[in-house]
This record gives sequence, structure tokens and C-alpha cells, in this order.
Amino acid sequence: MEAPLTPASRTLSPHGGERVAESRVRGMIISRTIQDVRAAVCGARDAGRVIALVPTMGFLHQGHLSLVRVARANGADFIVVSIFVNPLQFGPNEDFERYPRDEKRDLKKLEDEEVDLLFLPPVEVMYPPGEDTRVAVGEVSEPLEGERRPGHFAGVATVVLKLFNIVQPDLAVFGRKDGQQCVVIERMVRDLDVPLRLVFGETIREHDGLALSSRNSYLSKEQRVLAPALHRALRAGEEAIEHGIHDVEAVEKLMRKMAAETPGIEVDYLAVVDPDTFRPPGDFHHDVMVAGAVGIGKTRLIDNIRISKRAIPHAHIE
Ligand code: AMP
Repeated sequence: MEAPLTPASRTLSPHGGERVAESRVRGMIISRTIQDVRAAVCGARDAGRVIALVPTMGFLHQGHLSLVRVARANGADFIVVSIFVNPLQFGPNEDFERYPRDEKRDLKKLEDEEVDLLFLPPVEVMYPPGEDTRVAVGEVSEPLEGERRPGHFAGVATVVLKLFNIVQPDLAVFGRKDGQQCVVIERMVRDLDVPLRLVFGETIREHDGLALSSRNSYLSKEQRVLAPALHRALRAGEEAIEHGIHDVEAVEKLMRKMAAETPGIEVDYLAVVDPDTFRPPGDFHHDVMVAGAVGIGKTRLIDNIRISKRAIPHAHIE
């Protein structure tokens, strides 16, 4: 049976009697305002808990939940998950309006995962009238996703820095599935001296290789059958590199050929990149990444595979 939502309650926080207006589903605090989050997190910190933040846009799946477990495995014992479909990171012709949302189902999943606090801010809490500041991360936000989605990474960096400032976690967890996003956030944290530890979780996939994504819910049954072609193309690139093909053009051509075997897949890019810069790698003596984005009907999917230099023949020879 589903646990009822209790209404907002008046509670005294352990640090100075501030009012905490919150609701709870069983043990999980649900906050919709910045003050409530701060009060709850302060209480947890005063009690000696290690705070982790897992930012999401909701419509949760096992990929998101794996990040909660990664947070715990890294010593966190007060887990904050945020669900916020951030309008700033969507372009004008993107899917902000139709992005899937299911608050009730998300609550249940987080409760089952024993998350401590869910932050569910309305848009006007994150972006009150008059707000006018953006965080612009430099070069790493320019290629690939940055080129195709102008303003996307500024939107991501801005909301993530705001969430960091609101929650002030000891650690924050992001998924490697959004590989370039990880590096953009890492750059921001370093450059702006944000006092937290970043942890990255591996990509969780379906049995056929498709990376879990909230956007997979857009796919029709027929399109869902086509979708693993992205991962197959990336795997073909990975194998080629591991078999000694160290020519960016040749590997990219091979990946495109592989994707073309599945009609209905429209390649946006299939690229071999340096995982630190997201530009073509200078050589194959270091880790490299194959990254791709494809369209299936109106749905855009991204994925990547990082290839360790240990798996690249002769990578150790300088
Ligand atoms: P999103 O809700 O798509 O903004 O994703 C929230 C967080 O979950 C981001 O750090 C994503 O990289 C991560 N994430 C999304 N899909 C996966 C997945 N399949 N495996 C692991 N992490 C994921």
C-alpha cells in the first residue's frame, strides 16, 4: 500500500528553532523551498551525517537509483536527491514541455531507496523574477553537445552550482552516461573552488546495451528495437581501437557504417575524442572516448564508452 503524504508540518530543527515546513513520505523529507532544504541539511550535518547530492530531472530509472547507491558506497549517510526539469538547459526547439514527469512514481522509488530528502523546487524557486546570472564553463562546453545545443551547458552549470549552494553537500554524484556534462561540472568545481567531492557513476544499460534514459520513454515499440544501434556503433569503435586502429577518421567512418545498418537511426555525431577535452585525441597513448548522439524520430539519444589506455595496444609506448 502506498504511504500517504503528510501535510506540511511545523517542526523545530536542532539548530536554533527555525521552522521547517516539510512533508514526508514515510521517512523521506520532501522540500520545495530553499529554506527547508537548508534547515534539514543543517540538522543532518549537526548530527554528523555525510551529505550527498544526486541531481536529476526525474522520471527516475535504475541509472538514477544507481547513483544513490554510489553515494552511499562513498560514505554518504544523508542522501539528497533533487528533481528539477531545468528550463535553462533546453533549447527553444527541444523537449522541455513534453519531458516525462511522474512525481508519484518517483517518490515511491526514492522512498524504497531510503533517500533522506527529496528537493522538488518549482521553477520560480530556482529562477525568481529578475534572476540574471549564468555560469559559463569554457572550452570543454564547446564541442559536440555544446555545439549542437547552444546554451545547454551554461544552463546545466548554472542549475548545478545553484543546487550545490542550496544543499552544500560533501559529495555530489553524476552519471558518466552524460560524459561531457561530467567534465563540464568538474571544470566548474575546480575553477570556482566549490568545496565538495565529485563522484561519477557508471552507465546502467538495458540487456541489449541501450543506456537507460528518461527519454527512452518517448520511443515507440518499433523505435525501441532500433535504439541499441547507437551502443552497437560505439562498441564497434571501441573494438576497432582495441584492435589497433588508431586513426580517428577510420574509426568514425566505421561507427557511421555500423549505425547505417539500422535504418531509422539518424546520426548526429559519432566521434572519437579525448575524454578530458571532448576534442579529437592527439594520440592513442592515453584513454580515449567514443561518444555519439542519434535521432530516432523526434527522440535524441546520447551515449559514450571510455576506453582505458590499458586496453589500447601500444598505448604505453610514448
Ligand atoms: P537526468 O535526470 O537525465 O538529468 O540525469 C540525472 C543524473 O543521472 C545525471 O548525472 C545522469 O548522468 C545520470 N544518469 C542518467 N542516465 C543514467 C544511466 N543510464 N546510468 C547512470 N547514470 C545515469
